[in-house]
Amino acid sequence: MPDVLHNPFAGPGRFYKGNLHTHSTASDGVRSPEEVCALYREGGYDFLALTDHFMKRFGFPLTDTRAFRTPRFTTIPSAELHAPAIMQGEPWHLVAVGLPADFAPPTPEEFGPALAARAVAAGAFVAMAHPAWYGMTLADAETVPSAHAVEIYNHASEVDVARGDGAWMLDALLARGRRILTIAVDDSHGHFADWFGGWVMVKAGSLEPEALVAALKAGRYYSTQGPEILGIEFDGTDIAVECSPAASIAVLGRAPASKTAFGEGLRGARLPVAGLRPGGYARVVVTDAAGRRAWSNPLWFDAA
Ligand SMILES: [Zn+2]
Ligand SMILES: [Zn+2]
Repeated sequence: MPDVLHNPFAGPGRFYKGNLHTHSTASDGVRSPEEVCALYREGGYDFLALTDHFMKRFGFPLTDTRAFRTPRFTTIPSAELHAPAIMQGEPWHLVAVGLPADFAPPTPEEFGPALAARAVAAGAFVAMAHPAWYGMTLADAETVPSAHAVEIYNHASEVDVARGDGAWMLDALLARGRRILTIAVDDSHGHFADWFGGWVMVKAGSLEPEALVAALKAGRYYSTQGPEILGIEFDGTDIAVECSPAASIAVLGRAPASKTAFGEGLRGARLPVAGLRPGGYARVVVTDAAGRRAWSNPLWFDAA
């Protein structure tokens, strides 16, 4: 269970930009692992999780990307895990970031919830991928209590079939009392322009894979399509947000509770949260003039 502080970015370190969901020719992507790493490295990212489909037909790849690291760019050993099955019958899609090299393939008897729990026990940060894209339900999500996060935005799903949004799933889980984080990702394969659309900014003390995974688990990051969240502080009454120029800054609680500040080029806002308290949590959404969003992780009032 993540323990998100009332100021998730208060600790030492700096923000590192990373994509947590990516494919290569080691599964069904277009680019080789080397090309994918070069794309993101040259695109200004600090790190990449190459998450090829951990499936028998691809030889259960845990793609080794260590050769493509530089002093300013690292990679986290990762995979997208699959096992039976969400209620519609599709295999689970679970992004596991920070897997050991000897992580064993699932047996046919190992279902999604058990596979997720095994990945968490092996040290990974585990997220439920693209809920809207494949029709994952709230009831499905509740069978995987070990998952750290659910994708709030999957860029490939948005570009391909306009099903990139996972906010409904996040809020439904939060409203049920689940302590869960959220990530924005590309899920890029390269069959169409599905890269550089959603990423995370992780506050960590160093660009070491272990430090990044620890910061992810602790919720010391935010997700974005472009806007920056520079600071969030909760003083018991208001949530103060500092951000890059925004058209709106919203604080959302259990639906429909919310407070929004609108303006031109807003660099921050102070929003009262009394109305959100009964729901137990608040999360921040910053939207810029182009409609691009940044999403904080939830803040739980009882952790403040
Ligand atoms: Zn997937
Ligand atoms: Zn994927």
